[in-house]
Amino acid sequence: MASGGNSGDTLPPLREVIRAHGLGARKSFGQNFLLDMNLTRKIARAAGPLEHATLYEVGPGPGGLTRALLDEGAARVVAVERDPRCLPALAELSAYYPGRLEIHQGDALKVDELSLLPTENHLRIAANLPYNIGTALLVKWLTPEAWPPWWASMTLMFQKEVAERITSPSGRKTYGRLSVLSQWRASPSALFDITPRAFTPAPKVWSTLVRFEPSAPVVSGLSVRSLEKLTATVFGQKRKMLRRSLKGFGPKAIEILGELEIDARARPEELSVEDICRLAHALQESGLIQALPISARTRPVR
Ligand code: SAM
Repeated sequence: MASGGNSGDTLPPLREVIRAHGLGARKSFGQNFLLDMNLTRKIARAAGPLEHATLYEVGPGPGGLTRALLDEGAARVVAVERDPRCLPALAELSAYYPGRLEIHQGDALKVDELSLLPTENHLRIAANLPYNIGTALLVKWLTPEAWPPWWASMTLMFQKEVAERITSPSGRKTYGRLSVLSQWRASPSALFDITPRAFTPAPKVWSTLVRFEPSAPVVSGLSVRSLEKLTATVFGQKRKMLRRSLKGFGPKAIEILGELEIDARARPEELSVEDICRLAHALQESGLIQALPISARTRPVR
């Protein structure tokens, strides 16, 4: 343990906590708990460096990852949990690590993180995310207009196939809106896979731990809104060539493709993240993207 205070070694095993507090997993909350402390410690170390860091955790549940983060040296953990049944178990954990664990009940999708978290540096996100809202939370954390964002790193567990979309290079079937939003000003890397057997109850799919760190945008001056509109438009019609899917922007859009030396017959998955950003920026600067009405295709990324 790197920081002062208790080590979790004398806490009751997580299975006992779950039994004592009646925390049978609920599908509606996306609950698949990690009970192996060797694994939670490995995840906590991957989320580091933890010393002097405040960790924001979504969905602590019975507290397996939370304990590991604190034992591995996080100065503080601030956590948001939706399921009120978990609160008494988490209050016990909070008493065990005095002054180092703060729990809020609520929906992480609606929380304003900056109102909960200190404004100093070293803010990191670590979470074994509920599958049903994992992508929505990721998009929330990736899309503030201000950059660099409030977090210095995010270490998040996703379904393996979602992790493949996040980290996908262009030219693959897995490449799409989520890849572009994840990569245009952050560097996501898949750290390791986790077998379904590691979870209670076991999900049907494998999981992957992914780490993100903010980087400089590949194209400066591009707004998130413009990028979201373009990616929604072109990846919403993935099989169409750009000259077809950009029709809604008017004839000038095809001229812009030429100026940027982007092949108008290309399909969106053939374009690098940089080319998509250059195109979005040029459409933004020409005022075309702002003029595009919000359509069914501008739905949130899933
Ligand atoms: N961190 C624990 C672990 O690793 O064992 C639990 C992870 S479990 C996959 C997801 C957790 O997120 C559950 O505790 C669930 O109740 C919580 N959760 C689900 N939806 C949530 C939401 N909208 N906001 C905050 N927490 C949520």
